[in-house]
Amino acid sequence: MLEKTLKSIEPFTSSAEKHSRFCVACGEPATMLVKYDTEGAIIIEKYCDRCAREIEESSAK
Ligand SMILES: [Zn+2]
Repeated sequence: MLEKTLKSIEPFTSSAEKHSRFCVACGEPATMLVKYDTEGAIIIEKYCDRCAREIEESSAK
């Protein structure tokens, strides 16, 4: 499994984000883009406010 490093969490409002607008963790409507650095690539996942906050808190050391 690739190691993922949290890169940024930011709100998305773009009309380019019309697809899969649901939180990948809980299925609620997503409002945040969470970006991870992996080996040579950036992975973007969508989360709702609550799940994004949990990710942010769990990654804060
Ligand atoms: Zn969620």
